[in-house]
Amino acid sequence: MLDTPAQPPAYMRTAAKPKAPSARQPVPVDRDLHIGQQPTDWETGRKSVLSWVVDLSAEQPHVLGFPGALDFDYSDMAPALAAFANNVGDPTSGDASGVGAKKFEQAVVRFFAETAEAPEDVYGYLTTGGSEGIRYGLQAARERLPHAHIYVSDQAHYAVRKEARTLGMKVCVVASGEDGSMDPDDLKVKALVHRRLNPRGGRGPGAIVLATIGTTMKGAYDDVTSLRLMASVAGQVYVHADAALGGLVAAHAPSQPGPRWNFTHGAHSVSMSGHKVIGSPVPCGVLLIREEFALEPAQAEYVKATDRTLGCSRSGLAALFLWRALHALGHDGMRERIRAGLETAEYAVTQLDRVGVNPSRPADSLIVCFDRPADRVVNRWHLACEGERAHIVTVAHVGRPQIDALCADLASWRRS
Ligand SMILES: *Cc1c(COP(=O)(O)O)cnc(C)c1O
Repeated sequence: MLDTPAQPPAYMRTAAKPKAPSARQPVPVDRDLHIGQQPTDWETGRKSVLSWVVDLSAEQPHVLGFPGALDFDYSDMAPALAAFANNVGDPTSGDASGVGAKKFEQAVVRFFAETAEAPEDVYGYLTTGGSEGIRYGLQAARERLPHAHIYVSDQAHYAVRKEARTLGMKVCVVASGEDGSMDPDDLKVKALVHRRLNPRGGRGPGAIVLATIGTTMKGAYDDVTSLRLMASVAGQVYVHADAALGGLVAAHAPSQPGPRWNFTHGAHSVSMSGHKVIGSPVPCGVLLIREEFALEPAQAEYVKATDRTLGCSRSGLAALFLWRALHALGHDGMRERIRAGLETAEYAVTQLDRVGVNPSRPADSLIVCFDRPADRVVNRWHLACEGERAHIVTVAHVGRPQIDALCADLASWRRS
């Protein structure tokens, strides 16, 4: 479907091979959990589950390097665990089974649509997470621009390359600046090269820009407005904003003007995670797309639903959890949650600077990078590392006491 030249040009490399990650310990097999032929009494099973919960809860305050907020407790939602909440097809569509929690899903999608300043006719649904949202955006973009390449920065989440590979789409890696955001000038150069190779009667091949709103390692914001403009040298442009972590942050960023990332700034579709800034016991996310770009509905005679989603059965429980969290916050509560997180990030920069580990942080970011310490510190605090740098993400369960304790460990590591 894609008309690529026989010899791919040099610029069209896939991303550089990442450094081999430090060897992970495999998860040991727990023989006590083995399920055999005979039923086992539940008291034993229950103990296993509860001790897992206790261990995990004890460890959670030490999880500083990953973006999922862990301050939640949805146990008052327990009655929902005795119901089957299967949201098959579009959130607005009835379906044959009628056992979903779609009215909650609609309310959640609306909240996110307001957050991303979406147009009135936006289409959206709850996904399994950030990756499904990326796939949706790329697939919808390809429907419009079948000859375009995907332009993505070298700082984008690995899920982008994974989804592009599944879809058989070409990825063109664009350089990033010092802060970690996509370099608009490099994008322009690369989009122009593709146009020269593939003029398509003067219209150009078009360009699909995958902008990252809060890059995975450095927390930088790609600038949707300027990237869309720069990419237009290749013809028509489609922009998907992967705002898994940073969308909710950008929406409430105190700086003026804040990051340009949403529909009014030029995005055609936006995806965000539900289990990161908000926190949820199950991974989930939201996909929003301008109605006219949404995928064609699948023929779904059997379920009697219109279905423009990528899945079939979808988690209604995720909708209930997110609704519960957002209901308790509202947009104002979310702003406060973000403000507190950003304040902790600022505090972390000051303290990390004191212990001499060279912190860096883009404006309005919950992510703070610093020099990678010894493995025992990395492991104790569940730090995320890339090359010689490590980072923390100041989501809601991360506060000053943990920053202080981390800094004490870093100071003693530097003395050793
Ligand atoms: C977390 C993240 C993803 C992946 O999202 P999941 O919901 O974890 O699947 C993709 N892109 C970015 C920028 C992310 O931060």
